[in-house]
Amino acid sequence: MEQGSNAVSGTLSKASAGAVGGGPVQPTPTAIASLQPLGVRDVTLAPGHELGDWQRRNSVRTLPHCIEQVVASGTVRNLEIVALGRGGEVAHQGLVFSDSDIYKTLEAAAWDNVRGLSAGVTGFVEEATSVMARAQRPDGYINSWFQGQHPELVWRDLRWGHELYCVGHLLQAATAAHRTSSNPSLAGVAERLAGHLLATFSSEDGDGRLVGVCGHPEVETALVEFYRLTGDARLLALAKRQVELRGRPDVALPASGLLGDPRFPLSYFLHHLPVRQRSYATGHAVRELYLQAGVVDVAVETADTELLAASEAIWEDLFATKTYVTGAHGSRHRDESIGDAYELPSDRAYGETCAAIASFQWNWRLLLATGRARYAEEMERVFWNTIAGAVSREGTEFFYSNTLHLRTGHDGTDEDAPRHRPTWYRCPCCPPNLARLMASIQAYLMTRDASGLQVHMPFSGALSTEVPGGNIDLAVRTGHPWEGTTDIEVAGCSSGERWDLSLRSPEWARKEGTRVTLNGAPVEASWEGSYIRVGRRWRTGDHLQVSCSTPVRVLRPHWRVDAVRDCVAVQRGPLVYCVEADDLAAGVAVEDVFVDATHSLEPTDAVPGGLQGYVKVAIVASGEAADSLSAAELYNEDGTTQWRAEPLALTFVPYFARGNRPRDAMRVWVPVQRGQSEAQTTEPD
Ligand SMILES: [Zn+2]
Repeated sequence: MEQGSNAVSGTLSKASAGAVGGGPVQPTPTAIASLQPLGVRDVTLAPGHELGDWQRRNSVRTLPHCIEQVVASGTVRNLEIVALGRGGEVAHQGLVFSDSDIYKTLEAAAWDNVRGLSAGVTGFVEEATSVMARAQRPDGYINSWFQGQHPELVWRDLRWGHELYCVGHLLQAATAAHRTSSNPSLAGVAERLAGHLLATFSSEDGDGRLVGVCGHPEVETALVEFYRLTGDARLLALAKRQVELRGRPDVALPASGLLGDPRFPLSYFLHHLPVRQRSYATGHAVRELYLQAGVVDVAVETADTELLAASEAIWEDLFATKTYVTGAHGSRHRDESIGDAYELPSDRAYGETCAAIASFQWNWRLLLATGRARYAEEMERVFWNTIAGAVSREGTEFFYSNTLHLRTGHDGTDEDAPRHRPTWYRCPCCPPNLARLMASIQAYLMTRDASGLQVHMPFSGALSTEVPGGNIDLAVRTGHPWEGTTDIEVAGCSSGERWDLSLRSPEWARKEGTRVTLNGAPVEASWEGSYIRVGRRWRTGDHLQVSCSTPVRVLRPHWRVDAVRDCVAVQRGPLVYCVEADDLAAGVAVEDVFVDATHSLEPTDAVPGGLQGYVKVAIVASGEAADSLSAAELYNEDGTTQWRAEPLALTFVPYFARGNRPRDAMRVWVPVQRGQSEAQTTEPD
């Protein structure tokens, strides 16, 4: 090792290392934080509920599938070739950032370790980590593409090279491994790499080191988390520096000319303006959202309220004007970018899965920092719709882009917008990203603070954690996302103090319809914004039940969202619904369907064939259908539509469950029937 005073090596074996058992995001005691996360071991998800069942599916199907694909695509071999010193002789397989697929898969395996790993997963973890250690340069650098293909370009193409992006995923994998007491060999690789970064990258003006940022933000969150783990403040300074250098006109984004297309504007890389100087979301969706997650991490650890406010201002722009009803982001396939305000085309929605995951991560950090319910709302929306629907029922097929309208006869031969979920991608960033999130999802559901515990996303399972004055064991059972009831039983409590148990009341539930009972009797609960708070000296055997209504909601778009004007979207609980071709009569296409939005849309447990056991509630409605066989001209002056004579019975199914049956066409936003184009008009007083 040649890092000298920059070495981070060995820190993780010292007592100062961050607590084992934490979750993906563990702010330090001095961070700005309204709420503290729980660890991955504190919550155990139960089978028989979506979260537990999907996490189990992730363990037994998705993670092994990712491993199989990562190995088969030559990604591990890339590192092996470098380890053997044969880089120049053998072509690199996959994209320039293919190493990150290994690291995300290792991170998923690390989080999964708390529930035990299969032999196949353990074998991959050992093999991949061993290859990484052998491929790593003596100075700590590791990247199979640059070492193997163009060692002369190391750190010389920050625009397209994704080197820091890959570093970020490696550090996150090592953080997960440490917090789950698994894969100790990874700690050494990560510490040597962190030492290399400290030796290479500038931490302050005039220190003579490389001044630059990565074209693809990601390393910012990882550096802060590795700081939280190791206690090495130089890593936090480096993360802060990465945030502060971004968008500075005097900081170049070097390109080698070998890797990327020069047409991309600096805003694509989020390098057009410093974060503090803009109040709008822009550019490549995943890059923007990862960057913002890192901005919040830096802000809370450096107590920089101005920086936190800048990120919240960008959040307000994004969620007020540039977010799909499914929580997805990215309106444009071109540059995978966010697009203009209200530019939210349904049939060309990009909505990359990684952007949804990044949004979930950013909102989680903002929730911890501020305690504001709106961030939990957005986590819930993007989780139950875009994230849940990105993976197939089987757990081995994936959407990369998540459109809201897949047209009949869609030209979906390209993986850019396929008709069905493929098993893998040429750019496979999303599947292992899903795997690492689902492996740690139990860490994102609840928090604690000095007053007690907060439930942000209900689950079924068990909780064991600290509360004021002692420890608590809870058994939680919920009907979410299908019903609004959550039961919490105190299975054990060693605290004699009074403390509060708070549950978020979701925006889709009506406050007046919410009932709270304690041990079977109605109880006085205080409302703290969107949280129902019950305070008492909790005792073993106490039973709290919160019931909220789950009405079918018929949503209309803001008038500026031209692409879906005169359409409605159907939501029940957190779930957005869609119409699939599989449920339409022969000859009726999803493009011919109009819904009667003035009559009630009714939930039903008569779930369409092919979705039983996966969907518990469908929604039925009526409407009418245009006659697709009529000879209507594409453009005409009288605007008449030929209608089918028979009324239309419509079935809506959850968006997350789409694409699991033979036919592919689907739409979320459905035009309203004749004469229903305007919702109630509000006249000024
Ligand atoms: Zn992706």
